[in-house]
Parts: sequence; structure tokens; C-alpha cells
Amino acid sequence: MDILKKIIIIISVLGFLFPCEGDANLDNSTNIQDIVLIANHIVSELELIDDAFDNSDINNDDTIDILDIVNIANIILYNDENQCIPTIDITYNIDESLPIDWIIEFYTIMNNLSTLIPAYQNYFENLAVYAWNSNVENPYPGIEGGTYIGGADEGFNMVLEINQMEFEWNHMHRYSVIAHEYFHVYQLSINQPMNEPNGGYNPNTFSIKWLIEGAATTFESMYVQNYYDYNYFINDLAYIDLSNNIHTNPSIFEDYSSNNLDMNYSCSVFMVLVLAKELMNLGYSEESAFKMIFQEFMLTGAKNSNWENYFLETFGFSVDEFYTSLQSYSLNLQNVVPSSSLSLQQIFD
Ligand SMILES: [Zn+2]
Repeated sequence: MDILKKIIIIISVLGFLFPCEGDANLDNSTNIQDIVLIANHIVSELELIDDAFDNSDINNDDTIDILDIVNIANIILYNDENQCIPTIDITYNIDESLPIDWIIEFYTIMNNLSTLIPAYQNYFENLAVYAWNSNVENPYPGIEGGTYIGGADEGFNMVLEINQMEFEWNHMHRYSVIAHEYFHVYQLSINQPMNEPNGGYNPNTFSIKWLIEGAATTFESMYVQNYYDYNYFINDLAYIDLSNNIHTNPSIFEDYSSNNLDMNYSCSVFMVLVLAKELMNLGYSEESAFKMIFQEFMLTGAKNSNWENYFLETFGFSVDEFYTSLQSYSLNLQNVVPSSSLSLQQIFD
């Protein structure tokens, strides 16, 4: 297991704590005090005696001047403060029942995802991962089996009980599920209401299933397309019969109780892919369309009681208009899959 330990150490050292641009006084946030400090610095023409000013030359022209102040003011006014908030702390409980090559791939995937879509400590600080092979007794007492994100005493748990058959058959799901569950962690990190309890109907949480699961499963499929050149949409999702309810009663997919009609979330994925097509019909690029769905909409703070307002605001058409537009698409996932050249990097840049 020595090599594993080395890998884990390398991953830890890589860290994902981004420096605070413009944080002259090194207090971990970029704010008006930094402007005052930098202004004083310029006025008094002090020598650079303190490393602190190293990160104040925002435009990298080797002098700290009024242009840097303007840039810092822009950072304060227009950027979300993410740059200064640390990423969530992840603890790993990876059982030895899992094949070693899966474990290595698991850490690679988590590293890729943390770089692509870092989850910052906006609403919770900790994530505990529990992973094991379904062919052994659950090694973690108190952790329910399955694959899901669940609430914990502190933060959340990511549970990955990987079905033994997925190793036997080299099924892509053994990797894609990591991207799917991590995407929920990302969603939780950018949408406060999702952090509220969601058992039963709670107007203050966000639990519109087709948007949450459709996005996570679409993301998961794009991940394996990007990193393994494997078309999950076509190979694993497209063969599932899509429910007629997409045409007749799409709102049932807002609720998790429709899961029996939504095998592998294929109906939810279909709806998300049609949403992207509708946005592209309005002139948005494919990457912009998915960025709006994956990120911008979630960042509005939409919750169950008001999500339809934010839907209209973000996408430019109402939920009802969107539901009606679904009727003009035949119930075949193949017709709406995104281009295989679309990269997640482009989407999240
Ligand atoms: Zn999910």
C-alpha cells in the first residue's frame, strides 16, 4: 500500500487553496483595507519591504500603482469571494475490498474534479468519503449502503458502495458514479437551499429532481466522454425507454417520487439536454448553455418556493413554456445528445 500512500500525499500537497489575489495585508480576504494599504504604499513610495505586496500587482506590470487599485476594486465589487474561501476538507475512508486499480483511479478522478469544479466552503466545510466493494459486509457501521450524498454531523458523506459486478464487467459506471456524486457536492457548495433538509416537501430547500439529477447525470456522462472517450449517453442511457410523461405531464419529474419512471435518470437527462438545445436555439453556444444549467441557475439561490422565477430569469423562458417545448422533441435521447467534442473545461472556464 506504500504507493497508495505516496499518491495520497502528493494529492494533499497539491492542495487546492487558491491564493487571494489583491490580498495585500494577507488576512485571507480581498477588501477595502487592501485598497487603503496599497494606496498608502503608492503614495509613500515605500520600498517593497514586505512580501505582502507581491500579490497586489494585479496586472503583472511589475509596479504597484493606481491600475492595480482599480483592478482590486473590481475584484471586490464584481467577483464572488470564492477566491479567498478555502475548498472543503475531504477525508477518505477507502476500504481494501476495492481493487487497487480502482482506488488509484478514484484519487485521480477526485483530483481532476477538484481542479475542474472546486467545492468551496461556502455552506459546509467537510466531506467524508466512504467507499467499499459490495461483495463484503459494510465496513463502516452507521453508514447506509448505496451510492449517494447524505447529511453528516459535520458536512456531508459521499457513499460509494460499488457493485462487485461493475468490476467484473469493467462497467464505466464504477468510475462515472464518482463524477456524479462529486457533482452533487459541487451543487451543494454553490446553492445554499440544497443544504436544507429535503425529506418531504420543504419550500426552503431545492430538490427539483430533473434539474439536480439530470444535471449530475449529464455531467457524469460528459466526464467519461472527456476522460475515457466513452459515450455514456449512447451506450448506457439511450436504450432506456423514455416515459411519455415527458410530453404529457413533465412536472412529475420535479419530484423524486417519479424515480420508478425515470430509470438511471434518463428522463431527467433528456429534459436537461432539451433545455440546452432550447438555449442554443436562442443563440447561446453549447458550452454557455450547459454552464447556465450546471452553474448559473444554481448560483441564483433558487429554492423550491421560487425556482420558477429564477428559471425564467436565467434562461429567458418560463418553466411552463419549456415544458410545452418538450412536446416538439421525439422521445429519443440520441437526438439530443451533446457533441462529443464538448469539453467540461470549456464549460467551466
Ligand atoms: Zn444523484
